[in-house]
Amino acid sequence: MLSPLKAYEIWFRCYGPQGWWPADSTEEICVGAILTQNTSWRNVEEAIAALKKRGWLSLKALCEIREEELCEAIRPCGFYRQKARYLKEFAISIERGFKTLDALFEKPLKEARNWLLNRTGIGEETADSILCYAGRHPILVIDNYTLRIGGRLGWWPGEWDKRQYAAAQRLLMDNLPKDATILGEWHALAVAHAKAHCKKKPSCGSCPLLIKGQTHPPSD
Ligand code: SF4
Repeated sequence: MLSPLKAYEIWFRCYGPQGWWPADSTEEICVGAILTQNTSWRNVEEAIAALKKRGWLSLKALCEIREEELCEAIRPCGFYRQKARYLKEFAISIERGFKTLDALFEKPLKEARNWLLNRTGIGEETADSILCYAGRHPILVIDNYTLRIGGRLGWWPGEWDKRQYAAAQRLLMDNLPKDATILGEWHALAVAHAKAHCKKKPSCGSCPLLIKGQTHPPSD
């Protein structure tokens, strides 16, 4: 069976570095991680551009602006009322609890993760995105693409879903270096692979994982 590390090496050669997370600041990464829930990245880019234009891409600004104004700015990314509430609560609770994002990221990984998971609207995928890409903690983000690929490559039986988030994360992290850069790149490359080849209906004929002589039974 192709190991997660071997898949990473092949993906990296095939797709190259993905440059995640595309952002100018850790605050922008956190905002993007919250806004990207249930929408495409293109929509998030639009919402982030609107926030930047208004000078609202900072915790301080997010604390101060009115929720209705925030709704208008982030409207392109969908579920904007909920997400405006999540963003404001996130910014206010960081200000109250830590003053800065860095102070949160200096906490041990488990403590920082539990704190994030106790915020409204922040689930495991969002928390781990924030911790890996903004906090530079060695933790792997699991998403539906990874769950699909892992089932097809035989890392777990069939197509797991988000209920198996922790199990998939443990299994993959046990087989990858504990390094934030590698784990961040691994996740980005898995997304690239799922979009390029391992789609819902997979393009196995041109898949680099098979071209390189590795075989596995695609599940569909
Ligand atoms: S061979 Fe097909 S099922 Fe397997 S990883 Fe490649 S695209 Fe996905």
